[in-house]
Amino acid sequence: VLQLMLPKQTVRTIYDIDLEALRASGIRGIMTDLDNTLVGAKVPLATPELGAWLEGVRAQGFQVVVVSNNNESRVRAFAEPLRLPFVSRARKPLNAAFAKALGMMGLRAHEAAIVGDQMMTDVLGGNRLGLYTILVEPIAAADESFFTRNVNRNLERAFLSRLRKKGMMK
Ligand SMILES: [Mg+2]
Repeated sequence: VLQLMLPKQTVRTIYDIDLEALRASGIRGIMTDLDNTLVGAKVPLATPELGAWLEGVRAQGFQVVVVSNNNESRVRAFAEPLRLPFVSRARKPLNAAFAKALGMMGLRAHEAAIVGDQMMTDVLGGNRLGLYTILVEPIAAADESFFTRNVNRNLERAFLSRLRKKGMMK
């Protein structure tokens, strides 16, 4: 179980992801969480900086799909102006939404990465399916939902301390 909680890579923000290295390792598609990964959980639209980054990602030949546990109206309002395909109410860490996103991209698991800010949803689900998992620091932790703040983050802290004790994570 501990191995499944462990991201393949940890970065501070999406902008710190080494896209060249991802390409070189055969990754062709990027699934990304929305809330607190791309923008704060209470921020409705992309920042100009994010828009430019996404353009760059796509110019490098990556497909991008937003995979979010949030509801359709939130995810659609965010993703459509960016022309990003999305899966809402994804119920991560369950497999179905990840499998759906792979189908949308026409890729297999080892050709896709998942970027997200939660070990309990993004990393656990992605690892179980064989995606390349990238954990980012949450953008605005204060804006998290009650469940995320009180349940997922507590579990995450417990896992992190065990991973650190075993020397599996800094
Ligand atoms: Mg998130």
